[in-house]
Amino acid sequence: MSNGIESESVSNVYGSNVFNEAIMHERLPKDVYKSLKRTIDEGAPLDPCIANVVASVMKDWAIEKGATHFCHWFQPMTGVTAEKHDAFISPTVDGRTILEFSGKELVKGEPDASSFPSGGLRATFEARGYTAWDCTSPVFVKENGANISLYIPSAFCSYTSEALDKKTPLLRSMDALNKQSMRVLRALGNTTSHRVAATLGPEQEYFLVDAEFAKDRLDLTLTGRTLFGAPSPKGQEMEDHYFGAIHERIGSYMRELNQELWMLGVAAKTQHNEVAPAQYELAPIFATVNVATDHNQLTMETMQKVAIRHGFVCLLHEKPFAGVNGSGKHNNWSAVTDDGINLLEPGSSPHDNEQFLIFLMAVIRAVDKNAKMLRASVATSGNDHRLGANEAPPAIVSIFLGDQLTDIFKQLEVGGATSSKAGGELKLGVSTLPKLHKDCTDRNRTSPFAFTGNKFEFRMAGSSQSTAGPNFVLNTIIADVLCEIADELEKASDVSVKAQEILQRFANEHKKIIFNGDNYTKEWEKEAEKRGLPNIRNSVDSLEAMIDPEVARLFETHGVLTNGELHARYEILLERYVKEINIEGLTAVHIAKRQIMPAAIEYSGMVANALNATKAAGVTSKAQAKQLSDVAALIDELQVGIVSLEEAVEKASDVDGVKKQAIAYRDLVIPAMSTLRAVVDQLETMVDASIWPLPTYAQMLFVR
Ligand code: ADP
Ligand code: MG
Repeated sequence: MSNGIESESVSNVYGSNVFNEAIMHERLPKDVYKSLKRTIDEGAPLDPCIANVVASVMKDWAIEKGATHFCHWFQPMTGVTAEKHDAFISPTVDGRTILEFSGKELVKGEPDASSFPSGGLRATFEARGYTAWDCTSPVFVKENGANISLYIPSAFCSYTSEALDKKTPLLRSMDALNKQSMRVLRALGNTTSHRVAATLGPEQEYFLVDAEFAKDRLDLTLTGRTLFGAPSPKGQEMEDHYFGAIHERIGSYMRELNQELWMLGVAAKTQHNEVAPAQYELAPIFATVNVATDHNQLTMETMQKVAIRHGFVCLLHEKPFAGVNGSGKHNNWSAVTDDGINLLEPGSSPHDNEQFLIFLMAVIRAVDKNAKMLRASVATSGNDHRLGANEAPPAIVSIFLGDQLTDIFKQLEVGGATSSKAGGELKLGVSTLPKLHKDCTDRNRTSPFAFTGNKFEFRMAGSSQSTAGPNFVLNTIIADVLCEIADELEKASDVSVKAQEILQRFANEHKKIIFNGDNYTKEWEKEAEKRGLPNIRNSVDSLEAMIDPEVARLFETHGVLTNGELHARYEILLERYVKEINIEGLTAVHIAKRQIMPAAIEYSGMVANALNATKAAGVTSKAQAKQLSDVAALIDELQVGIVSLEEAVEKASDVDGVKKQAIAYRDLVIPAMSTLRAVVDQLETMVDASIWPLPTYAQMLFVR
């Protein structure tokens, strides 16, 4: 299936493994199709009577595609997907088998919930958990090696109906956003739209490293990032990789990746070289946030799978290499009505586009009021290397509006907006070049939350994380503000006057979060502090936002997460942080003790022998003597560094209470790892290359 599509056209391949709308229309009985469509498009409750028919049709379709199994495919709090496969077989009394798939099996699965993170919601003995078919994300067929299964996107909850996954709160938040957006639209006089859905286009960054090098790096294998490595003499300073010509080996990889994704109905659209050497990006065409999130999970998985076929390892970690850019996942968010109105489309005269301004202002207010929760939604140990560390974007949440909208925003502050700045034409000074229309707003690459034409781009998300987290937070906080606005508009005698008053009030309250300048400067940090914007530099501190009572109120009010579910998630995320840093610490010790120390000792022996031979020949060599004493000193430092890191890990692992433990890992283990790394990286610059045990940065980043 994967390699046989070379000669087929893209349009034949696209969606060929998806039980999509066209297939449903063609194969399902008319009334069943209509009923299912009502659930998918209008959110009507799923009619249990249609499940058997749908299951049977799905099974026949899947078997035609070579499937022997089906599985509920869900997203537990591990951050990756989970699946348990069952064969379609059902033995008959005469010792043969028929192939069966019932409505009950389609609708509900019962995986053991006790072995997934539950943050205390489930004890080990309380095992029962359920998966429920999410018919709003299409079923598909996927091959893993020779095995082909029917995949059923599902939500995952406990016996006591708490959400144990990433999908459930996302679906709940979409409902909340729909409900509150519709109230606002109706209040503003819209009579044509019936539903509002959040849309998402996630830009996925990744690295490809030759598998021959990666296999000799235990740190890459176990932690997804390099824990050691002296800088390559050449890094990204030539600015020649970004948008550079695509290398042949990479091109072949991208082609196969696209084909695999297209078959799964993932609309992989844009591909290019990114800023760091060996770094790339793929962006799909946006979809409703639930489908886009499922598709992003498939994209990450497929990137890794296809990489292996091409002799690469695909790294999705936020910071695989020190000293060059890390990887993010730019989260392009908007909301669209069922009759196709993008609620963040400014149109040609945004200043008098009341609906647009209300939705724009709702996002601004939501982000300003909930900046800490938004920051928490992207908090992982990997992302700590980006946010607020040596790299962009900063940990300060601010919003870029650009010239045109900032001008309107300022007009709103002092009353109604009466004009919009226009774009105009570009003057290129060459008569043969086409006349280009200029956008009315420039771009700002440094902003963590930027308005980009007809959507907001939240740039703080990490490359490895599920998009469910940031988006259920965005949907919910925006729904909360829309609810507040709807409450006011519904009561108003003159809606337009009220809308203007709201816009003016919010513009004044939230001007502090608008920032169009360079977010990477020290001056901005100072300025942001003056404005009272939070700057939370690490995951442990930022996760606190999740247990803020006001946050609990907000998420409970909109039926997205209960206080208990939020607390459980907080615990799970802290535990995950602890486990990740623990694995990094142990891996660093392992490599330093068993690979670096032996190599350093071997090298110092070589220099000592050479020195003795030189002496015996009657020559004194100051250089050799210095090299020997320098290496010997570093070996001593290495020993100290290893012992300190071992002690730090041991001490941190003994701490009781997950919050205190996370603090211990942050404050003891991470600094001990950095100290050890500095010694190892220095040794790398001295030890004979032929005995240095780790592939170097130059090899991993530049050799294809
Ligand atoms: P850039 O790198 O210039 O920001 P890309 O083309 O790489 O742009 O990515 C932009 C992403 O935004 C794409 O995934 C695109 O589909 C998505 N996008 C465009 N319009 C919307 C929208 N209305 N809602 C959500 N995402 C959108
Ligand atoms: Mg891009």
